[in-house]
Amino acid sequence: MSERVFIGLGTNLGDRQENLARARELLSEKLSLTAVSRIYETEPWGYADQPKFLNQVIAGETELTPTRLLDFLKRIEKKMGREQTFRYGPRVIDLDILFYGDRVVKTKRLEIPHPRIAQRAFVLVPLAELAPGLVHPVTGKSVEEVKKNTDIQDVYDYKIN
Ligand code: AMP
Repeated sequence: MSERVFIGLGTNLGDRQENLARARELLSEKLSLTAVSRIYETEPWGYADQPKFLNQVIAGETELTPTRLLDFLKRIEKKMGREQTFRYGPRVIDLDILFYGDRVVKTKRLEIPHPRIAQRAFVLVPLAELAPGLVHPVTGKSVEEVKKNTDIQDVYDYKIN
């Protein structure tokens, strides 16, 4: 049985647009992509003294379990040369599982839905573009509802070259 998942992509090193394209290509090996948001440019979060990010959200169907999906994302990050820097520091690619169907997972390694969706405009804006009515399985709030209560002024439409 396949599940619908939402993955958040972020990058702020090198050719950011190319990084997103490469990540989507690698993701599609185990995920059939059903929707892809526009690309947004956003101010760095958590640690300000670094380049701006490009962010995007994709929706896809996968047979992978949540844990296997996380393993798969980590392999892609590694393959694309992500180095461990520091928390919220610059990265070639960052991949987060935002939602996995309406599954709730809470282990040491993995939390689904992603715990910081509600504070992150750079996730909420592209997510609302794809699935405004998607309801959080724990809070019962829709993506659109949460977005309305979030400051999204630092999320800009990015013109694709
Ligand atoms: P990051 O620095 O954003 O790549 O996240 C570091 C760690 O967060 C990963 O190695 C995961 O073990 C953990 N993590 C917890 N929940 C999630 C999630 N929903 N999606 C991705 N990583 C997660």
